[in-house]
Amino acid sequence: MKKVLSGIQPSGQLTLGNYIGAMQNFVKLQETEECFFMVVDLHAITVPQDPAMLREQSESVAALFIAAGIDPAKANIFVQSHVRAHAELGWILTTLTGMGELERMTQFKDKSAGKDSVGAGLFVYPSLMAADILVYNADLVPVGDDQKQHLELTRDLANRFNSRFGDYFTIPEPYIPKIGARIMSLDDASKKMSKSNPNVGSFIALLDEPSVIRKKISRATTDSGREVKYDPANKPEISNLISIYSHCANISIAEVEARYEGQGYGPFKKDLAEHVVSVLEPLQQKYKAIRESGQIHEILKQGAARASELADRTLADVKEKMGFLAPR
Ligand code: ATP
Ligand code: MG
Repeated sequence: MKKVLSGIQPSGQLTLGNYIGAMQNFVKLQETEECFFMVVDLHAITVPQDPAMLREQSESVAALFIAAGIDPAKANIFVQSHVRAHAELGWILTTLTGMGELERMTQFKDKSAGKDSVGAGLFVYPSLMAADILVYNADLVPVGDDQKQHLELTRDLANRFNSRFGDYFTIPEPYIPKIGARIMSLDDASKKMSKSNPNVGSFIALLDEPSVIRKKISRATTDSGREVKYDPANKPEISNLISIYSHCANISIAEVEARYEGQGYGPFKKDLAEHVVSVLEPLQQKYKAIRESGQIHEILKQGAARASELADRTLADVKEKMGFLAPR
């Protein structure tokens, strides 16, 4: 059985991008592998968060994991800050990370662009992400395309540690969907859909009401043509909507194209909205039931206990290999 690790930040309302790019693979992998899925609150605070919102969003993300189909009996669901080894190994890996390596990270460039003040945490985010993965010696990391570069750095850090201190870390592999690895914003197909985008019209939140979903899709920007054709280079907006359609209706891209041949964008968008609603409505009902059940905290406690067992062992091994004096 392989070990699988991934996380989602409680930095806003989860979007269809998070669902298609990452969570659908969480659900798939839990059937055959040992999985660790976290609410990564230590990552979320790399940009300012309101304390009450952070607490609410953290619980909400955990409930959405379950609502999306992650089964606590099959996968460990927990909050990153409940497993203290993440922060500690994160610091250790920061000392092995080059400034130049971090400067090349496109997430840092995107998130710091145009800001007057940028926290150092945003800069060292990738070292903490490396710790998240390596602390479990994870084999597979299901993520969207935007995290590929961070994963590449994680692999470099694992190799660097292994060559300096002796073979120890597993070199993790990304696990990225073929279609839908990068769902784009509804208002600007040159930017990925992101839950922290202040323009709520740019994303579909998993908890958006059906009427809101319909409105957002009808307002999504398109080119001025009328052909429903998958061509990301020349028709990025329609191609993005086709990817979403393909996932939500569970049919191939070619089938979507064939279905709307000669029909223009109107009927396509209308049906797309209904397919998205039909995926999200049951998820929303399940979400409500989970929040009301009051079971989340117990699930998170059990997840963190199992995760801590593995993570503490890794941290002790790492410290020993690096020459930390053990307390006696
Ligand atoms: P933020 O704007 O706060 O960074 P986010 O929407 O990018 O939020 P993250 O918590 O950073 O969400 O990422 C969680 C997971 O979702 C990661 O695996 C990431 O690659 C994936 N993901 C995020 N956005 C998209 C997207 N637009 N398409 C596909 N996958 C995505
Ligand atoms: Mg992100």
